[in-house]
Amino acid sequence: MSNNIGDYNKCCGCGACFNICPKNAIIMEEDENGFLYPSINKQLCINCGLCKSVCNFNNYKKKETGEYPKVNVACSKEEDILKKSSSGGIFATIAKAIINDGGVVYGCALRKEDDYLKPVHIRIDNNDDLIKIQGSKYVQSYIGNMYAKVKEDLNAGKKVLFSGTPCQIAGLKSYLKNTNMDNLFLIDIICHGTPSMKMFQDYQDFLKKKYKGEIKEFIFRNKENGWNSKGIKGKVTIEQSRKKEKDVMINQHNSAYINLFIETAIQREECYSCPYASDKREGDITIGDYWGIDKIHPEVLKENGGKMELSKGISCLLINTEKGKRMVELCKKNMIMYESDFEKVSRKNGQLLHPCKSRLDREEILKIYRNENYEGLEKWLNKKLGVKKAIYYLWDKLPSNLKKKVKRH
Ligand code: SF4
Ligand code: SF4
Ligand code: SF4
Repeated sequence: MSNNIGDYNKCCGCGACFNICPKNAIIMEEDENGFLYPSINKQLCINCGLCKSVCNFNNYKKKETGEYPKVNVACSKEEDILKKSSSGGIFATIAKAIINDGGVVYGCALRKEDDYLKPVHIRIDNNDDLIKIQGSKYVQSYIGNMYAKVKEDLNAGKKVLFSGTPCQIAGLKSYLKNTNMDNLFLIDIICHGTPSMKMFQDYQDFLKKKYKGEIKEFIFRNKENGWNSKGIKGKVTIEQSRKKEKDVMINQHNSAYINLFIETAIQREECYSCPYASDKREGDITIGDYWGIDKIHPEVLKENGGKMELSKGISCLLINTEKGKRMVELCKKNMIMYESDFEKVSRKNGQLLHPCKSRLDREEILKIYRNENYEGLEKWLNKKLGVKKAIYYLWDKLPSNLKKKVKRH
């Protein structure tokens, strides 16, 4: 086996080479930190070169010209969609419109496999399954053979919506180079880099042991107490017995995984030099949280005479292509939208301008993970936070009206 494609030594793990190989000579293998990299079985390989030519990450050529995408502040009008989405529900609104139009949708789901919730790309063709691919997942998803499935759907004349990280979108487009893509609609997210699936599984093991049960549900962004424009707050439901479940709230002060994700310490090496973190987008539209909306566009909020509620979640929607425009037209009656611009949205969404920056002690942190497993990272975080951890814990328990009073003083 050889663990790189030709002389390429950088890889975002998009899986395009795995999908295109005519001899199934490529498998995706974990490196020492759990990230998947292609590995070629030399016995099966016929040196056709397809894996090398399909690799967008290594052949990336930045478009130097072109206008900034058109930017909107947006959220869904549908309460049910808003409730289940991480921010303004724009992905689900568009996905629903595509399904209602007879199309199929691809996106990342957390699927139960071998006692773990695994982030995998799946294909859905009905609204009941939409919930599976709603909500942010802060982990690299497994693409498997989904690019080949998209090709089958397109060849069968189906309308296809594919959502993913910009590198997955670039990988898919590259894979489909000789396929008619008229019916393909692409949504990329503003990506802050992805931790490995292996670390996410190790985190699940840690939670299972600590709370003595099985993970039933993992929500990276929980909106039960409102959309939070400051940090990530999630919820994990642990099934402790047939009749007993426990909800565990997670945030950057009590979870090393969330903490180190926010601090960009555990992202894949290539995320720190990601060529797609710019205004030149891979998707027809780009979606993300509209961070800082209350300061940047206060006029859109109900309390200031607008139509949006901060607590329900607000997205940014970048329209990058003509197809993107058509996609938005198809479902704009189900969305609330206000005009914004690229300069404003990129103020708090740095990955529209540049890749995330690696922490200086990243290697030290990953060494702890390799030597002491995930538990070592939790110990490291506890030590680092010290007494602050108890203060954060008490702060989280305070009712929000009390928090507001404390903040005013
Ligand atoms: S050169 Fe061709 S056969 Fe060999 S691994 Fe690459 S795609 Fe597969
Ligand atoms: S095609 Fe994707 S998975 Fe394959 S080497 Fe290139 S970046 Fe890595
Ligand atoms: S930061 Fe770039 S390379 Fe990393 S997952 Fe996101 S799009 Fe892919």
